[in-house]
Amino acid sequence: MVFVTGGAGFIGSHTCLELLKAGREVLVADNLCNSHASSLERVERLAGKRLSFVRVDVCDREALEKIFSEYDIDSVIHFAGLKAVGESVGSPVEYFSNNLGSTLSLCSVMRAHGVNRIVFSSSATVYSGSFGVPSGGFSESSPTGECTNPYGWTKFMSEKILSSVCVANPDFSAVLLRYFNPIGADPSGEIGEDPEGVPNNLMPYITQVASGVRERLTIFGNDYDTPDGTGVRDYIHVSDLARAHIKALEFVEKNTGCEVFNIGTGRGTSVLELVRSFEEVNGVAVPYVVGARRPGDLGTVFANVSKAERLLGFRAEFGIRDMCRDAWNFQKRNPHGIK
Ligand code: NAD
Ligand code: UDP
Repeated sequence: MVFVTGGAGFIGSHTCLELLKAGREVLVADNLCNSHASSLERVERLAGKRLSFVRVDVCDREALEKIFSEYDIDSVIHFAGLKAVGESVGSPVEYFSNNLGSTLSLCSVMRAHGVNRIVFSSSATVYSGSFGVPSGGFSESSPTGECTNPYGWTKFMSEKILSSVCVANPDFSAVLLRYFNPIGADPSGEIGEDPEGVPNNLMPYITQVASGVRERLTIFGNDYDTPDGTGVRDYIHVSDLARAHIKALEFVEKNTGCEVFNIGTGRGTSVLELVRSFEEVNGVAVPYVVGARRPGDLGTVFANVSKAERLLGFRAEFGIRDMCRDAWNFQKRNPHGIK
């Protein structure tokens, strides 16, 4: 069975759905610090299949020991982690101990139980901004390691931990997926992104403005060197991203060693383009003002996705309009979130 840490969260729940659809047995481990168990009930309903769930802190090595003794686990997808960039600046110890502690506990228990396959949620944030974006987008060999916040360093360091474990254990297989900007929701509108408090990311902010929870969006800067001056990102539909995990799982089952893959669409979209698509597709207004740049932001970030296409056979299928439609569908169906 596949052991999915953080499986009740945004990306994890969509991936559990794809795993069940693909006929996999799934065991989710989540402490629900940023999610609700009801997302897993919804996943089961959508798939028409059951999964197993344990409420556990993945940093808790002894609890993991027990789980690995009780269940027949053959691979791991590791989503569990804290992910708010701004919050990580104010709480670095919590971020390092949670995000690195969980990765270290997992590695040690996996080794003790002869489980050798892991897919890890990394991020485009590991890429260095100071060399500019290559004309074809960031590739897996682009320079990394000038993170501007503790969250980014936890991803960079988790990658180092996993690649070192692969060097030390030739039977080990790790795939590090560097996600670009996952947005949208399952087309059913049953599961989606459900942030606590004020959203940090653009799409949940847009859906909350469109629904009247917040008055207006602030666009962080319109003086970047981009076609309309606003920041350009590579948005990917979360259901596409979830499918990429199935491909990654198949890859770790067939290979050993450590491989890194960008997961995006390879196409950049500006903040203004996203706002306009959202308004057009959904027939709702998204009032905005233009404010100052957000510290640490780059003007343009998009992926070179050729390695994922070539070696994983993964290509995103949904476009920006689908992402806007599905994000809004989820917001309308769940005005108070999943709980
Ligand atoms: P999320 O917060 O919705 O999901 C993370 C899940 O992990 C939550 O259910 C939370 O309760 C759980 N969790 C956190 N710490 C835990 C611990 N110690 N033990 C057990 N469970 C724990 O976030 P998400 O957007 O689904 O992101 C999943 C992963 O992908 C994270 O590692 C995140 O850093 C990474 N990632 C996300 C994005 C993004 O934009 N959403 C981009 C790049 C990478
Ligand atoms: N952004 C914005 N207003 C917001 C949130 C984000 O203008 O309230 C911009 C941000 O500057 C960036 C893009 O939207 O250009 C995507 O930001 P997000 O935080 O979603 O992702 P990241 O910056 O981590 O790629």
